[in-house]
Amino acid sequence: MGRLAPSPTGALHLGNARTFLLAWLSARSRGGTVLLRSEDIDGPRVKPESTAQAIEDLRWLGLDWDGEVVVQSARLDRYRAAAERLVAEGRAYPCVCTRSEIEEAASAPHEAGDDGPVYPGTCRGRFTDLATARAATGREPALRFRVDVAAVPFDDGFAGAQQGRVRGDFVVQKRDGGPAYQLAVAVDDAAQGVTEALRADDLLPSTPRQLLLYDALGLPPPRFVHVPLVVGVDGLRLAKRHGDTSLRAFRHAGVASERLVGHLAHLCGLRPRGASCTPRELLAGFDLGLLPRGPVRGDDHGLLG
Ligand code: GLU
Repeated sequence: MGRLAPSPTGALHLGNARTFLLAWLSARSRGGTVLLRSEDIDGPRVKPESTAQAIEDLRWLGLDWDGEVVVQSARLDRYRAAAERLVAEGRAYPCVCTRSEIEEAASAPHEAGDDGPVYPGTCRGRFTDLATARAATGREPALRFRVDVAAVPFDDGFAGAQQGRVRGDFVVQKRDGGPAYQLAVAVDDAAQGVTEALRADDLLPSTPRQLLLYDALGLPPPRFVHVPLVVGVDGLRLAKRHGDTSLRAFRHAGVASERLVGHLAHLCGLRPRGASCTPRELLAGFDLGLLPRGPVRGDDHGLLG
Protein backbone atom coordinates (compact mmCIF):
# COMPACT_ATOMS: atom_id res chain seq x y z
CA MET A 1 0.00 0.00 0.00
CA GLY A 2 1.41 3.35 -1.08
CA ARG A 3 0.48 6.93 -0.40
CA LEU A 4 0.53 10.42 -1.81
CA ALA A 5 1.28 12.88 0.98
CA PRO A 6 1.26 16.43 -0.37
CA SER A 7 2.00 19.36 1.92
CA PRO A 8 -0.51 21.73 0.43
CA THR A 9 1.64 24.80 0.93
CA GLY A 10 1.14 26.11 -2.57
CA ALA A 11 0.31 24.81 -5.98
CA LEU A 12 1.89 21.47 -6.84
CA HIS A 13 4.78 21.87 -9.24
CA LEU A 14 6.54 19.59 -11.69
CA GLY A 15 8.77 18.10 -9.03
CA ASN A 16 5.95 17.15 -6.66
CA ALA A 17 3.93 15.85 -9.59
CA ARG A 18 6.74 13.59 -10.72
CA THR A 19 7.15 12.16 -7.22
CA PHE A 20 3.41 11.52 -6.91
CA LEU A 21 3.30 9.91 -10.33
CA LEU A 22 6.10 7.56 -9.28
CA ALA A 23 4.47 6.75 -5.93
CA TRP A 24 1.24 5.98 -7.76
CA LEU A 25 2.95 3.88 -10.45
CA SER A 26 4.97 1.94 -7.92
CA ALA A 27 1.88 0.94 -5.95
CA ARG A 28 -0.60 0.50 -8.80
CA SER A 29 1.78 -1.45 -11.04
CA ARG A 30 1.80 -4.14 -8.37
CA GLY A 31 -1.96 -4.00 -7.84
CA GLY A 32 -1.54 -1.99 -4.64
CA THR A 33 -3.75 0.53 -2.91
CA VAL A 34 -2.96 4.25 -2.95
CA LEU A 35 -3.97 6.58 -0.14
CA LEU A 36 -4.08 10.36 -0.18
CA ARG A 37 -3.08 12.30 2.91
CA SER A 38 -3.01 16.07 3.08
CA GLU A 39 -0.14 17.18 5.32
CA ASP A 40 -1.77 20.48 6.11
CA ILE A 41 -0.27 21.13 9.54
CA ASP A 42 2.81 22.80 8.25
CA GLY A 43 2.01 26.11 9.90
CA PRO A 44 1.15 29.44 8.38
CA ARG A 45 2.02 28.58 4.80
CA VAL A 46 -1.00 26.28 4.54
CA LYS A 47 -4.17 27.92 3.33
CA PRO A 48 -7.60 26.43 3.97
CA GLU A 49 -8.27 25.86 0.28
CA SER A 50 -4.89 24.19 -0.27
CA THR A 51 -6.07 20.61 0.19
CA ALA A 52 -8.84 21.10 -2.38
CA GLN A 53 -6.29 22.56 -4.80
CA ALA A 54 -3.93 19.65 -4.36
CA ILE A 55 -6.80 17.23 -5.00
CA GLU A 56 -7.76 19.10 -8.14
CA ASP A 57 -4.17 19.06 -9.40
CA LEU A 58 -3.77 15.32 -8.76
CA ARG A 59 -7.08 14.51 -10.46
CA TRP A 60 -6.14 16.61 -13.45
CA LEU A 61 -2.93 14.58 -13.76
CA GLY A 62 -5.05 11.43 -13.88
CA LEU A 63 -3.98 10.00 -10.52
CA ASP A 64 -6.55 8.33 -8.31
CA TRP A 65 -6.62 7.00 -4.78
CA ASP A 66 -8.63 4.71 -2.56
CA GLY A 67 -10.89 5.74 0.29
CA GLU A 68 -11.28 9.04 2.06
CA VAL A 69 -8.62 11.73 1.97
CA VAL A 70 -6.93 11.88 5.37
CA VAL A 71 -6.28 15.40 6.58
CA GLN A 72 -3.63 15.81 9.25
CA SER A 73 -5.18 18.87 10.90
CA ALA A 74 -8.12 16.64 11.91
CA ARG A 75 -5.85 14.17 13.69
CA LEU A 76 -4.01 16.36 16.17
CA ASP A 77 -5.23 14.31 19.15
CA ARG A 78 -3.52 11.22 17.77
CA TYR A 79 -0.17 12.95 17.47
CA ARG A 80 -0.59 14.39 20.94
CA ALA A 81 -1.31 10.93 22.35
CA ALA A 82 1.78 9.49 20.67
CA ALA A 83 3.96 12.32 22.02
CA GLU A 84 2.55 11.82 25.53
CA ARG A 85 3.28 8.14 25.32
CA LEU A 86 6.89 8.86 24.39
CA VAL A 87 7.22 11.12 27.44
CA ALA A 88 5.56 8.59 29.74
CA GLU A 89 8.01 5.94 28.54
CA GLY A 90 11.05 8.17 28.99
CA ARG A 91 11.72 8.40 25.25
CA ALA A 92 10.94 12.12 24.98
CA TYR A 93 11.24 15.05 27.37
CA PRO A 94 10.06 18.65 27.72
CA CYS A 95 12.46 21.23 26.34
CA VAL A 96 12.18 24.96 26.97
CA CYS A 97 15.24 26.04 24.99
CA THR A 98 14.79 28.75 22.41
CA ARG A 99 16.47 28.55 19.06
CA SER A 100 19.01 31.22 19.94
CA GLU A 101 19.88 29.45 23.21
CA ILE A 102 20.48 26.26 21.26
CA GLU A 103 22.63 28.09 18.75
CA GLU A 104 24.71 29.61 21.54
CA ALA A 105 25.10 26.33 23.38
CA ALA A 106 25.90 24.21 20.34
CA SER A 107 29.54 23.18 20.66
CA ALA A 108 30.81 23.85 17.16
CA PRO A 109 29.23 26.93 15.64
CA HIS A 110 28.19 25.16 12.49
CA GLU A 111 27.54 21.65 13.71
CA ALA A 112 24.23 22.05 11.99
CA GLY A 113 21.87 19.16 11.36
CA ASP A 114 19.33 19.54 8.59
CA ASP A 115 17.02 21.07 11.20
CA GLY A 116 19.43 23.71 12.46
CA PRO A 117 22.09 23.27 15.11
CA VAL A 118 22.48 19.94 16.88
CA TYR A 119 20.68 20.07 20.22
CA PRO A 120 23.25 19.99 23.04
CA GLY A 121 20.93 18.17 25.46
CA THR A 122 20.36 21.04 27.91
CA CYS A 123 16.87 19.94 28.99
CA ARG A 124 17.57 16.20 29.06
CA GLY A 125 16.51 14.90 32.45
CA ARG A 126 15.44 18.37 33.65
CA PHE A 127 11.65 18.02 33.85
CA THR A 128 9.37 15.04 34.29
CA ASP A 129 6.45 16.41 32.29
CA LEU A 130 5.07 19.41 30.45
CA ALA A 131 3.30 20.90 33.48
CA THR A 132 6.46 20.80 35.60
CA ALA A 133 8.51 22.40 32.86
CA ARG A 134 5.89 25.12 32.37
CA ALA A 135 5.65 25.87 36.09
CA ALA A 136 9.41 25.95 36.58
CA THR A 137 10.22 28.20 33.65
CA GLY A 138 7.08 30.09 32.67
CA ARG A 139 7.75 28.95 29.14
CA GLU A 140 5.68 26.76 26.87
CA PRO A 141 7.80 23.62 26.35
CA ALA A 142 8.30 21.57 23.24
CA LEU A 143 8.86 17.81 23.44
CA ARG A 144 12.11 16.34 22.23
CA PHE A 145 12.91 12.74 21.39
CA ARG A 146 15.95 11.35 23.17
CA VAL A 147 18.40 9.93 20.67
CA ASP A 148 20.83 7.46 22.18
CA VAL A 149 22.31 6.11 18.96
CA ALA A 150 24.58 7.69 16.40
CA ALA A 151 22.94 6.11 13.40
CA VAL A 152 20.02 4.01 12.20
CA PRO A 153 21.26 2.28 9.06
CA PHE A 154 18.54 1.29 6.61
CA ASP A 155 18.14 -0.01 3.14
CA ASP A 156 16.36 2.36 0.79
CA GLY A 157 14.28 0.92 -2.06
CA PHE A 158 15.90 3.27 -4.56
CA ALA A 159 18.84 5.02 -2.89
CA GLY A 160 20.28 1.75 -1.53
CA ALA A 161 22.11 1.20 1.77
CA GLN A 162 22.11 4.28 4.00
CA GLN A 163 24.25 5.01 7.02
CA GLY A 164 21.32 6.80 8.61
CA ARG A 165 23.17 9.27 10.80
CA VAL A 166 21.04 10.90 13.48
CA ARG A 167 22.33 14.11 14.99
CA GLY A 168 20.93 15.08 18.32
CA ASP A 169 17.61 14.93 20.14
CA PHE A 170 14.84 16.19 17.86
CA VAL A 171 11.48 17.85 18.41
CA VAL A 172 8.37 15.68 18.19
CA GLN A 173 5.89 18.23 19.52
CA LYS A 174 6.28 21.94 18.98
CA ARG A 175 5.79 24.61 21.58
CA ASP A 176 2.34 25.36 20.25
CA GLY A 177 1.34 21.75 20.95
CA GLY A 178 1.27 20.76 17.27
CA PRO A 179 3.24 17.72 16.11
CA ALA A 180 6.55 17.92 14.32
CA TYR A 181 6.42 16.52 10.79
CA GLN A 182 8.55 13.51 11.87
CA LEU A 183 5.97 12.38 14.39
CA ALA A 184 2.86 13.05 12.31
CA VAL A 185 4.16 11.16 9.30
CA ALA A 186 5.19 8.12 11.34
CA VAL A 187 1.92 7.98 13.26
CA ASP A 188 -0.12 8.32 10.07
CA ASP A 189 1.80 5.93 7.85
CA ALA A 190 1.52 3.28 10.55
CA ALA A 191 -2.16 3.97 11.32
CA GLN A 192 -3.03 3.84 7.62
CA GLY A 193 -1.13 0.60 7.06
CA VAL A 194 1.22 2.15 4.52
CA THR A 195 3.85 -0.35 3.41
CA GLU A 196 5.73 1.82 0.93
CA ALA A 197 6.65 5.48 1.44
CA LEU A 198 7.97 6.71 -1.89
CA ARG A 199 9.03 10.35 -1.71
CA ALA A 200 11.68 12.79 -2.84
CA ASP A 201 15.20 12.32 -1.55
CA ASP A 202 15.30 15.67 0.25
CA LEU A 203 13.60 13.63 2.99
CA LEU A 204 16.35 11.01 3.22
CA PRO A 205 17.92 12.73 6.27
CA SER A 206 14.56 12.57 8.09
CA THR A 207 14.15 8.86 7.68
CA PRO A 208 16.46 7.68 10.51
CA ARG A 209 14.51 9.88 12.93
CA GLN A 210 11.26 8.44 11.70
CA LEU A 211 12.63 4.93 12.09
CA LEU A 212 13.49 5.73 15.71
CA LEU A 213 9.91 6.87 16.27
CA TYR A 214 8.44 3.72 14.72
CA ASP A 215 10.62 1.67 16.98
CA ALA A 216 9.81 3.65 20.13
CA LEU A 217 6.08 3.50 19.40
CA GLY A 218 6.17 -0.19 18.54
CA LEU A 219 4.91 0.49 15.00
CA PRO A 220 5.99 -1.27 11.80
CA PRO A 221 7.88 1.08 9.45
CA PRO A 222 7.09 1.12 5.73
CA ARG A 223 9.69 0.40 3.08
CA PHE A 224 11.25 3.73 2.20
CA VAL A 225 11.93 4.63 -1.41
CA HIS A 226 13.59 7.98 -2.00
CA VAL A 227 13.72 9.23 -5.57
CA PRO A 228 15.88 12.11 -6.82
CA LEU A 229 14.40 15.57 -6.75
CA VAL A 230 13.63 17.49 -9.87
CA VAL A 231 15.87 20.52 -9.99
CA GLY A 232 15.96 23.52 -12.29
CA VAL A 233 18.03 23.49 -15.49
CA ASP A 234 20.81 25.17 -13.46
CA GLY A 235 20.92 22.23 -11.06
CA LEU A 236 19.37 24.19 -8.18
CA ARG A 237 16.18 23.36 -6.31
CA LEU A 238 13.08 24.34 -8.32
CA ALA A 239 12.02 27.85 -7.40
CA LYS A 240 10.30 30.89 -8.81
CA ARG A 241 13.35 31.93 -10.82
CA HIS A 242 12.94 28.77 -12.92
CA GLY A 243 9.64 30.10 -14.18
CA ASP A 244 6.23 28.92 -13.14
CA THR A 245 6.31 25.13 -13.05
CA SER A 246 3.06 24.82 -11.11
CA LEU A 247 0.52 22.42 -12.54
CA ARG A 248 -1.96 25.26 -12.46
CA ALA A 249 0.18 27.30 -14.84
CA PHE A 250 0.32 24.44 -17.34
CA ARG A 251 -3.39 23.86 -17.01
CA HIS A 252 -4.28 27.51 -17.43
CA ALA A 253 -2.05 27.71 -20.48
CA GLY A 254 -4.18 24.98 -22.04
CA VAL A 255 -1.55 22.23 -21.84
CA ALA A 256 -3.28 18.84 -21.98
CA SER A 257 -2.62 16.70 -18.92
CA GLU A 258 -1.39 13.88 -21.20
CA ARG A 259 1.37 16.15 -22.45
CA LEU A 260 2.39 17.03 -18.95
CA VAL A 261 2.33 13.38 -17.85
CA GLY A 262 4.35 12.56 -20.97
CA HIS A 263 6.87 15.17 -19.91
CA LEU A 264 7.02 13.73 -16.38
CA ALA A 265 7.45 10.26 -17.88
CA HIS A 266 10.34 11.65 -19.90
CA LEU A 267 11.87 13.05 -16.70
CA CYS A 268 11.54 9.54 -15.25
CA GLY A 269 13.27 7.93 -18.22
CA LEU A 270 10.06 6.09 -19.11
CA ARG A 271 9.18 7.84 -22.37
CA PRO A 272 11.05 9.81 -25.03
CA ARG A 273 10.89 13.59 -24.99
CA GLY A 274 7.67 14.99 -26.36
CA ALA A 275 5.52 11.97 -25.48
CA SER A 276 1.88 12.24 -24.44
CA CYS A 277 0.33 9.61 -22.20
CA THR A 278 -1.86 8.96 -19.18
CA PRO A 279 -0.54 7.55 -15.88
CA ARG A 280 -2.41 4.34 -16.62
CA GLU A 281 -0.53 3.86 -19.89
CA LEU A 282 2.73 3.88 -17.93
CA LEU A 283 1.72 0.98 -15.71
CA ALA A 284 2.68 -1.89 -18.00
CA GLY A 285 6.32 -2.74 -17.48
CA PHE A 286 6.85 0.01 -14.92
CA ASP A 287 10.18 -0.48 -13.20
CA LEU A 288 11.73 1.91 -10.69
CA GLY A 289 15.10 0.63 -11.82
CA LEU A 290 14.65 2.56 -15.10
CA LEU A 291 14.78 5.89 -13.28
CA PRO A 292 17.80 8.12 -13.78
CA ARG A 293 19.99 7.97 -10.68
CA GLY A 294 21.00 11.60 -10.24
CA PRO A 295 18.95 14.76 -9.79
CA VAL A 296 16.67 15.38 -12.73
CA ARG A 297 16.75 18.73 -14.47
CA GLY A 298 13.34 19.97 -15.43
CA ASP A 299 11.79 23.16 -16.67
CA ASP A 300 8.61 23.91 -18.55
CA HIS A 301 10.23 22.25 -21.57
CA GLY A 302 8.53 24.54 -23.95
CA LEU A 303 5.13 23.21 -22.88
CA LEU A 304 4.16 26.76 -21.96
CA GLY A 305 5.77 28.40 -24.92
N1 GLU B 1 4.43 16.10 2.90
C1 GLU B 1 5.79 15.90 2.53
C2 GLU B 1 6.12 16.73 1.32
O1 GLU B 1 5.26 17.09 0.54
C3 GLU B 1 6.05 14.45 2.21
C4 GLU B 1 6.12 13.66 3.42
C5 GLU B 1 6.44 12.21 3.16
O2 GLU B 1 6.29 11.76 2.01
O3 GLU B 1 6.80 11.52 4.09
O4 GLU B 1 7.27 17.07 1.16
